[in-house]
Amino acid sequence: MQFDVVIVGAGHGGAQVAVMLRTQKFEGSIAIIGEELELPYERPPLSKEYFAGEKEFERIQLRPARYWDEREVTMLLGKRVVSVDPAAHTVATDGGETIGYGKLVWATGGHPRMLSIPDGSLPGVQGVRTRADADAMKAASETARQIVVIGGGYIGLEAAAVLNKAGKKVVLLEAQDRVLARVAGEGRATGVRLSDGTVIPANLVIVGIGIVPAVEPLVAAGADCANGVRVDRLCKTSLPDIYAIGDCASHANDFAEGAEIRLESVQNANDQANVVAKGIVGDDAPYHAIPWFWSNQYDLKLQTAGLSTGHDQAVLRGDPAVRSFSVVYLKAGKVIALDCVNAAKDYVQGRMIVAAGLRATAEQLADTGTPLKELLI
Ligand SMILES: Cc1cc2nc3c(=O)[nH]c(=O)nc-3n(C[C@H](O)[C@H](O)[C@H](O)COP(=O)(O)OP(=O)(O)OC[C@H]3O[C@@H](n4cnc5c(N)ncnc54)[C@H](O)[C@@H]3O)c2cc1C
Repeated sequence: MQFDVVIVGAGHGGAQVAVMLRTQKFEGSIAIIGEELELPYERPPLSKEYFAGEKEFERIQLRPARYWDEREVTMLLGKRVVSVDPAAHTVATDGGETIGYGKLVWATGGHPRMLSIPDGSLPGVQGVRTRADADAMKAASETARQIVVIGGGYIGLEAAAVLNKAGKKVVLLEAQDRVLARVAGEGRATGVRLSDGTVIPANLVIVGIGIVPAVEPLVAAGADCANGVRVDRLCKTSLPDIYAIGDCASHANDFAEGAEIRLESVQNANDQANVVAKGIVGDDAPYHAIPWFWSNQYDLKLQTAGLSTGHDQAVLRGDPAVRSFSVVYLKAGKVIALDCVNAAKDYVQGRMIVAAGLRATAEQLADTGTPLKELLI
């Protein structure tokens, strides 16, 4: 088999590369190789509406099956790429197939990081990344009486909120090495033991402590990798004709003062996918997008624009008591990020002021009577 463009990973980024290539009138052949059996689907609902049983799987598919047929995107699903031969321009799958490419796009995301402790992968300890993970978590939670969620990041908090609303007894632990010692149990997880010896009983332990980028075949092929595959502003790796995007791509980010980071968000996967698709059709558009994130927990909509790392000032805008407010982060007087809670207007306008590198005083930013965009004038 040979394709002009082979995309490894049928997730958010991989799907968007194919969509954007066809939107850009790319007429070459395209194949997407995906380890999972499903056509590309949205991952965020796995810890939200899908997990809560409020949305059927069909409703979280990124495109209906006929979309891919009509646009002649060949889906090679249930196949894992195990090696890349950059000189021969081929990849090999776990089933022993060799597939040739003109351009290769690596969009493999990552695998959930599990607890690196004895018994950290016992039955009853569950990571969350795929539909299969969410289904397993849903099934186990139906009979579980006590659930421990490890990791106070978005995914852990969202899962905890869903379970709590469903009336489950949930204990959430913020994952820090010095807190957690080991999961206790024989045969199946029965609880979590903390460093002070406390044991929290559990029938189900949900682990949400980030991902390990899925880049082994590229590392073996000689790609420059650090925390993920390193890419330039056009999402090119150090290997010829191989791009990388999304959660697995480590890039210098303009909104982190050029620091090399990986972003784990749908928006980043889509933005980098667009950069690659445009690059392949000869319309280079370097990556320069303001990072943004969202999360839904209970009745709260959390939205973040920009990256707050390194801020030296945080200004509260609004009143947390009325459950609608923002925190504006500044560095050396410049607005670099906002966290907005049930404050959609601040979020939308916040993206504009971060993009513009607005300088404003704490008094100006705290004044809810003045829309943020007016500070730009
Ligand atoms: C539960 C959950 C909730 C989330 N909520 C949010 C949210 O609210 N907002 C937000 O912005 N982001 C959220 N995210 C993050 C977001 O889903 C990711 O940032 C996004 O999916 C990244 O896209 P990607 O294309 O890089 O990787 P993915 O979408 O993970 O796709 C990668 C695909 O590649 C496949 N793959 C891996 N290795 C191979 C291989 N060797 N061969 C073939 N296929 C392979 C994987 O199986 C996977 O299907 C959430 C993630 C999870 C898991």
